Amino acid sequence: MSVETCPLLVGGEWKTPSGRETTPVYNPSRGEIIARVPLCGAEEVDAAVRAATAAFPDWRETPPAERAQVFFRLKAMLEDEFDALCLGISREHGKTLAEARGDLRRGIEVVEYACGAPTLLMGESLENVARGIDCHTDRHPLGVVSGICPFNFPALVPMWMWPLAIVCGNTFILKPSEKVPLTMHRVVQLLEQAGLPAGVMNVVHGGRECVDAILEHPGIEAVSFVGSTPVARIIHRKGTAAGKRVQAAGGAKNFAVIMPDADVENTVAGLRDGAFGCAGERCMASSTAVAVGEAGERVLPSLVEAVNAMDVGPTDRAESQPSMGAVITGEHRDRIRSLINAAEKEGNDVLTDGRATEVAEAPDGFYVGPTVVDHVEPGHTLLKDEVFGPVLTVTRASSLEDAIAQANRQAFGNGAAIYTSSGKAAREFRHRVSAGMVGINVGVPAPLAFFPFTGWNESFFGDLHIQGREGIEFYTKRKTTTTRWFNFGEGDIWAK
Ligand code: NAD
Repeated sequence: MSVETCPLLVGGEWKTPSGRETTPVYNPSRGEIIARVPLCGAEEVDAAVRAATAAFPDWRETPPAERAQVFFRLKAMLEDEFDALCLGISREHGKTLAEARGDLRRGIEVVEYACGAPTLLMGESLENVARGIDCHTDRHPLGVVSGICPFNFPALVPMWMWPLAIVCGNTFILKPSEKVPLTMHRVVQLLEQAGLPAGVMNVVHGGRECVDAILEHPGIEAVSFVGSTPVARIIHRKGTAAGKRVQAAGGAKNFAVIMPDADVENTVAGLRDGAFGCAGERCMASSTAVAVGEAGERVLPSLVEAVNAMDVGPTDRAESQPSMGAVITGEHRDRIRSLINAAEKEGNDVLTDGRATEVAEAPDGFYVGPTVVDHVEPGHTLLKDEVFGPVLTVTRASSLEDAIAQANRQAFGNGAAIYTSSGKAAREFRHRVSAGMVGINVGVPAPLAFFPFTGWNESFFGDLHIQGREGIEFYTKRKTTTTRWFNFGEGDIWAK
């Protein structure tokens, strides 16, 4: 797409709203504007809700197996267009092609999971809850539901939401991140070609005004949100106050504990990929390493060597990919640099320094090189605030207990990892760490489509998590029917 304004999808029609301000979409690898997005408000959201409301009665009556057929066809189309879509993800986000493939592959897995709708939507029943009386529960869609997305997974995060919501019989209003709207633009076009009726999926664009309009609209029954913690908290508060079901996943600060008995080679690879994969812009990034006892001396020199061997550069082409791409905007790059500046001023050891990283062939790209800051003391900003960039903070701990206490002191609770060859240490860590997703010798323990994404503490606001069976539970309400027929047994073979 050239520098065009990304259109909305309302009731099966793609259109660009008139008179709305627009905001730029960048190719972070080059710092170039590649599209613009309209900043919509109440009027566009209302039009989308009206279209979704009109489409709901027919879609909810469409048998689940028939709804699933749309997703079988979509899956085939996504496979056919896989390479082009991944290039598009790298172009609008800056992540490497390998990372873009992971982004889309995980999204396709949710589509595959949604294809199991007839089984996923089955209810429960029990005969003879009392003599001659039977009871069964079944699942019903909620109505019009909405999804609000962050920038860091242009394919996966939106696809955590709408495949499940739609296959459950709901109609949907998607608001992609205004920083990366292009991937979903194409995927939703494919969804239409796969046979989804007009109005079942609608797309609006924008920032806060658009989100507020979604939260305030009485025609929307539920909101799925993924983004930073301050916004997640607001979404949950406003959405539930307006009587909606809300699941709001927030930010993170994930600790990786390195025990002295950890396998050095695998731990170094896990720490490097966990901290610097997707340039650290992952809610499951291992952004803090806690070295227990002599683990620091055993692991850090090899880690620094591995980080120094990484190259940074443009990712917007099929050939010669670097090990790490750009961060999302120039503003975000400057914030990351200033956090490293502050840490250095406060006397922390900057072991590898990505602040001055420049890429000759793409001088305007938004680059920060991989940075490791060591000996950071408890209470430091780098241990409390989410950096969401390629910065690995290292602290030291005297024991596993001390390491768990450090991890549990911060407010988030998305992920945590331990590197060890001791089953006992791993068990103790898994049991006591205050995080909803744990990796044992796995740096980024992000669950696949058939499991829920179970963040805790300040990383999640709501009751039912995104993905897996909790996702199905979130997008449906149950009806429980109790049945008794009179004249039971009259003239039939069961009569006594
Ligand atoms: P963000 O919170 O800035 O934006 C997320 C969405 O909220 C966007 O669609 C944006 O338009 C909207 N928004 C922004 N400010 C708003 C406001 N004041 N009121 C209403 N809506 C607003 O997040 P981001 O920078 O796009 O994404 C990065 C964040 O997402 C990180 O904190 C990351 O940890 C988090 N994240 C969490 C998970 C998870 O599963 N917990 C997954 C991916 C990303």
